[in-house]
Amino acid sequence: MNATVTRTPLIAGNWKMNFDHLQAIAFVQKLAWGLKDAKHDFSDAEVAVFPPFTDLRSVQTLLAADRLSLSLGAQDVSQHQSGAFTGDISAAMLTKLDVQYVIVGHSERRHGHGESNDVVAAKAAAISQTGMVPVICVGETAADLEEHGAAAVPVAQLRAALATLPAGSPFVVAYEPVWAIGSGQAATPEQAQSVAQALRETIIEVSGEDAAATTRVLYGGSVTSENIAAFMRQSDVDGALVGGASLKVDEFQRIIRFRQHVGA
Ligand code: PEP
Repeated sequence: MNATVTRTPLIAGNWKMNFDHLQAIAFVQKLAWGLKDAKHDFSDAEVAVFPPFTDLRSVQTLLAADRLSLSLGAQDVSQHQSGAFTGDISAAMLTKLDVQYVIVGHSERRHGHGESNDVVAAKAAAISQTGMVPVICVGETAADLEEHGAAAVPVAQLRAALATLPAGSPFVVAYEPVWAIGSGQAATPEQAQSVAQALRETIIEVSGEDAAATTRVLYGGSVTSENIAAFMRQSDVDGALVGGASLKVDEFQRIIRFRQHVGA
């Protein structure tokens, strides 16, 4: 693997179904001002927020008007391009809002909305085809962990998602053990590293060495300012997908500024 490549860490806040558009504007303003006051260097950590669909236009307008260095993401997308899909949002609609990243395969969609590996793969392809970057979430349930170990299910999910991705298109992987999401019980840094390494090896196999060297693999699941530094010390962990803690502006900033307490 190309040892000279460095991956800019990505700290991504998945707001889930929280904050209306007014709350979203207030939150992003506070976050941006706080990071500016702290002289945050965005080459230390890229910061992305993933608001609900109804907030995207407001956040996009704020980011553009104030030239803020935050990246904008969406939490889901349709696998279809257009047509009779009531309630769905297409990838083309998201690109018009300057959305850069889209989450696919989050366990709340796999389990709560019955999204299969095939649906996740079709969504990832739709995102890539319009020039956005899919954040492909993979992770094992507690039962999977007991039955197959930690890496088997995430690796199979990643393989399925990469199968239809156009060659050479960038993607992010988020390893999120389902049992760690919202539970307050994060994986250990060693567990996260071991699965992240298996995922990177899968990327080498499927997409090649260069893709594996540049692709960011995030950890997600009960990340806080207390545990982020230990995750970021792992060689194959390149950032975090943060749920609950991304809704608290001070806490999210402490996570983003992990370099202040990473001890590296
Ligand atoms: C998530 O839902 O992606 C997540 C990681 O949530 P939390 O940080 O709350 O565990």
